[in-house]
Amino acid sequence: MTALLEALHFAATKHSAQRRKDKEASPYINHPIRVAQLLATEGGITDLATLQAAILHDTVEDTETTPEELEQQFGPEVRQIVAEVTDDKSLPKAERKQRQVEHAPHLSPAAKQLKIADKTANVQNITTSPPSDWSLERKREYLDWADRVVAGCRGCNPALEAVYDDVIAQGRQALETAPQP
Ligand code: NDP
Ligand code: ZN
Repeated sequence: MTALLEALHFAATKHSAQRRKDKEASPYINHPIRVAQLLATEGGITDLATLQAAILHDTVEDTETTPEELEQQFGPEVRQIVAEVTDDKSLPKAERKQRQVEHAPHLSPAAKQLKIADKTANVQNITTSPPSDWSLERKREYLDWADRVVAGCRGCNPALEAVYDDVIAQGRQALETAPQP
């Protein structure tokens, strides 16, 4: 419990000045908390390193946090799982997205489950609290891409995959019935 709280405190501090892209500009930390909670509640995951990595999953990609810092504070396993789900920000966006699709089947089981939970949370956000400037087409493109990434992560947690399947189906239905711009 203490180790999870340490990860929460670390991530909350690192993300403290950041907001999500929804119109309410929700606190950034809501997202990693949701990802960890999905893994625990829906995926039945109790492994500490996986849950810590979920809480910390966007720190290297979106803050000044270094992989070394994560290893020092949380150990090599957490560092490794976070590294697996971290995009190389020096690459153009389209290439980063393509790499996620290509790398998904080669991730460790912990990183695959984290990816599925991350995409579940983001697809749910696109459906219920999307970035305000996104067109219907952009939302649909996101869902299609998320589906391609998740396809490569399947086979390690049927319960979590079933929740993702429900969320993407609801997302597609919501976009289908959305008023045309
Ligand atoms: P971004 O990658 O810029 O944004 C999506 C990411 O933002 C999510 O993966 C999530 O990442 C984070 N995020 C923060 N807040 C929210 C929220 N409320 N809901 C959902 N996600 C949130 O956007 P795209 O995925 O669209 O990537 C850009 C690509 O889009 C380019 O490759 C370009 O080709 C294309 N594009 C398409 C346009 C169109 O109209 N069709 C227009 C412009 C670009 P995390 O979990 O890591 O925080
Ligand atoms: Zn994320």
